[in-house]
Amino acid sequence: QVAERRAQATGPGATADGVPVKLLVNVGTVDEAVAAAGQDVEGIGLFRTEFLFLGRTEEPELAEQIETYAAVLEAFGERRVVFRTLDAGSDKPVPFLGLAEEENPALGVRGLRTATSRLDVLERQLRAFAEAASRTGTEPWVMAPMVSTPAEADAFASLARGTGLHHVGVMVEVPSAALRAAQVLRSVDFASIGTNDLAQYALAADRQLGDVAPLLDPWQPALLDLVASTCTGASGRELPVGVCGEAAADPHLAVVLVGLGVRSLSMAPRAVPAVRATLAEAHLSLCRRAAEVARAAADPQSARSAVAELLG
Ligand code: PEP
Ligand code: MG
Repeated sequence: QVAERRAQATGPGATADGVPVKLLVNVGTVDEAVAAAGQDVEGIGLFRTEFLFLGRTEEPELAEQIETYAAVLEAFGERRVVFRTLDAGSDKPVPFLGLAEEENPALGVRGLRTATSRLDVLERQLRAFAEAASRTGTEPWVMAPMVSTPAEADAFASLARGTGLHHVGVMVEVPSAALRAAQVLRSVDFASIGTNDLAQYALAADRQLGDVAPLLDPWQPALLDLVASTCTGASGRELPVGVCGEAAADPHLAVVLVGLGVRSLSMAPRAVPAVRATLAEAHLSLCRRAAEVARAAADPQSARSAVAELLG
């Protein structure tokens, strides 16, 4: 049995009874991507493209974008790479977009919403993904941040498909999208739950404000309810649902997320081995039981300790 456990300490993620759970990484630069490619991971679950744009007074040239994305795709070869379109606004300032000053930027024009005034920027970015894909002979997955309604998801999907991209998804990080997941996901191929923003909006607690940080505990049962709602909404069409927020990096919480129906987890590269090892010891039935126990708890602390007791 020891040998069996060692064997499970490497390679693709799976529960003890062999249900595959892809173990992916969150990265934000080409250097990080190249370093992660040398590790035992199944791909990139979230490539934050902001680094190309942040603080810039001019939009990066199409050629620079293509080269950057192609370098990432090259590094990962056949493995999955999920690019997120520019998540500008709020905590991610991008001067060249010319967005207005806002009283409440987290509730303002950010993420996909910036396409309302700067559709051209999104169109060029999608073109850069498609061009990088054809140069490298790969098929990247592409998703939009901060989607709140079915109409926004539909518009993004048709734009991305019209640009020649074939794996199109949305992030679920606004409670309205989690609650109405079946409709929001009707025209896309996958969903990726961003638990950082989903917690911020569900708990009405600014993720940049230390005073309210305890409310943003990823074990908040309300957050788990929203993850469950997303998985239920996606299940009709059997769409793959992943988590790419910080929650995915906590091994016990990863077990809970799998019990809720999540089938890929994207995290900081260093978190992958512990998550893989913990998942490999839990059968899907135990994951489901852990999810029930966590959702039945009244607060994050009791959810955490009830699951710790269950998993031993
Ligand atoms: C999230 O909101 O959980 C997420 C993964 O995106 P970011 O942290 O970049 O907003
Ligand atoms: Mg987010």
